[in-house]
Amino acid sequence: MAPADEDTGIWATVRLALGTGTSSPVSLRQLVRHDVPRYEPPGTRWGDDPLDRLCTGPRMRPHPGGADDFRNRLNVCGAPAQEMAVEKLPGTGWHKNHWFCPRHCDHLSRVREQVREQNAFAPAPVPNRGGLMASYFDTDFLKLYRWATTPSWQPPAYGMRADDWPIPGQEPVPQRARLRLITPPPHTDRP
Ligand SMILES: [Zn+2]
Repeated sequence: MAPADEDTGIWATVRLALGTGTSSPVSLRQLVRHDVPRYEPPGTRWGDDPLDRLCTGPRMRPHPGGADDFRNRLNVCGAPAQEMAVEKLPGTGWHKNHWFCPRHCDHLSRVREQVREQNAFAPAPVPNRGGLMASYFDTDFLKLYRWATTPSWQPPAYGMRADDWPIPGQEPVPQRARLRLITPPPHTDRP
């Protein structure tokens, strides 16, 4: 439905509609790769996690920055952090990163321990990027996305079309964990 005219070729129109953003020549492979259905955890893009690489350990006394300072508002340490624990949310499988500075390393090990069981039972993450072409065109998308990435690329457990993915908060997320078949070794030396 994107408007096209004689000066704008079909692929230029597609490129603009898919939002690769620049006027520089973009290869078809890059375009398709941009649309690969996937889950991007917080911190993948700049600015998508306000506490990216900042310590979330508890604050003992107010920061001199004043009441509006994020460290006082959120009551967190806020120091640059190098290590994190990933919490996988039970409803969506989405990640929540808990960063800690070296001074709060005891909190890091505690959080890692606390989320261990929850993470083990979390569903595969609901994708949050790509899958738009598959919602509008009909082709062998497994083959196409593998061509744009790697031959071993695996589609999300929720399918390749963004239209088919559950919207967290609006509809229940079906539990679709990734299952793997484990076959026992052919010979067991049991007495
Ligand atoms: Zn800290």
